[in-house]
Amino acid sequence: MTKKIAILGSTGSIGTKALRVIEALGSQYEIFALSAHCSIELLTEQTRRYKPKYIAVTDANCAAEFGKIAGDLAIDTEILSGPDSLIEIAEHPEVDIVLSAVVGAAGLPSVLAAARRGKKIAIANKEPLVIAGELLMKTAKENNSTILPIDSEHSAICQALQAGSHEEVSRVILTTSGGPFRKLNYEDLQNVTLEQALAHPVWDMGPKITIDSATMMNKALEVIEAHWLFDMPADKIEVLVHPESIVHSLVEFIDGSVIAQLSRPDMCLPIQYALTYPARVAGIGKQLRLEEIGKLTFEKPKPKTFRALSLGFEVVRTGGTAAVVFNAANEAAVQEFLEDKIRFVNIIELIEHCLNKHDVKKNVSLEEILQIDDWARREVQNQVYKSKIVKQGNR
Ligand code: NDP
Ligand code: MG
Repeated sequence: MTKKIAILGSTGSIGTKALRVIEALGSQYEIFALSAHCSIELLTEQTRRYKPKYIAVTDANCAAEFGKIAGDLAIDTEILSGPDSLIEIAEHPEVDIVLSAVVGAAGLPSVLAAARRGKKIAIANKEPLVIAGELLMKTAKENNSTILPIDSEHSAICQALQAGSHEEVSRVILTTSGGPFRKLNYEDLQNVTLEQALAHPVWDMGPKITIDSATMMNKALEVIEAHWLFDMPADKIEVLVHPESIVHSLVEFIDGSVIAQLSRPDMCLPIQYALTYPARVAGIGKQLRLEEIGKLTFEKPKPKTFRALSLGFEVVRTGGTAAVVFNAANEAAVQEFLEDKIRFVNIIELIEHCLNKHDVKKNVSLEEILQIDDWARREVQNQVYKSKIVKQGNR
């Protein structure tokens, strides 16, 4: 039977790769719904090519603009508008798989809705797992919804975990390329530019996760993501820098065996695995030839340079709403950095400021999570606009 897929965030780095993967998978998979925030031109192209039943445009102004264009396309597509349109397509009764490739906490309500409806969820959008992992995993379990990671490290762990039981796992080891500033000390980070931070040595990704990779906030978020996805305490999770990005992560079992997943650094493979799981099918990526790679190297991350990483572990240990503040402050600070309004090092300073100011709460509802998320974003903006944490010369 054909599986109907809704791709939330189809115009992004993961979304466009997902479309290529699904096209290559053939007629067993149907692109049922697509979504974008405001990339109207690309969305128009995708609509022409895939003729989905539904299109969700989350920015209301862009939705109106897209509505005018879609009128000329002469296709039978229903256009939905605003943030809640993602929920509508995520819970549509005809949808079998929700592939969430939205960036940021904005993806939370839709993945939660998909979990409530017992959908299979292929999740690239890590921020909802970070801020509401407990709620999301519990909702999925109660409704027989399967959550399959697309994040390459978590896909690797998911594959390696099949070699033993949960009780037999002694460590999960997440790898990281180390990003563009791997070799720098904290003092060297003072003057790095936006352009340097956006130049990732291995992966071609959207701007937010590219900055997260430069601060290693991405790895910190992934530690929290692994904690929830695989029910692992912080002391069983480790991070190892692996600049070649061939070993995507490893699982160590109590007998000392370490099972790793290796492949070329290409997101098409984890996207495909999440869609076809538990089956494996021929992929569109190039074969891995280790003799061409020659050498794989590993080193410990530098905790003084990448303060976000140690903070990520601390956030897992603290639990409750610490992760909500950690993530929201980062999203807001990265946005300011992308707009060239603050310096690179201000990102971690703003996150630390918000965490210090927040009284952690446990067992919170979705509404409380969203309120705290909103508070942290406003706190970052207050700091940037009302205090001295502003890039010299910008104001
Ligand atoms: P992109 O920025 O490339 O794409 C984001 C997508 O989300 C776009 O379709 C964008 O629409 C849409 N979007 C943006 N803002 C909103 C919003 N407020 N509400 C709804 N939709 C929105 O991001 P990536 O593809 O790089 O990353 C997506 C997610 O996957 C992130 O959570 C990231 O951490 C994770 N991830 C990404 C990897 C990668 O290789 N890129 C690897 C592993 C995980 P529009 O184009 O109109 O702005
Ligand atoms: Mg990753």
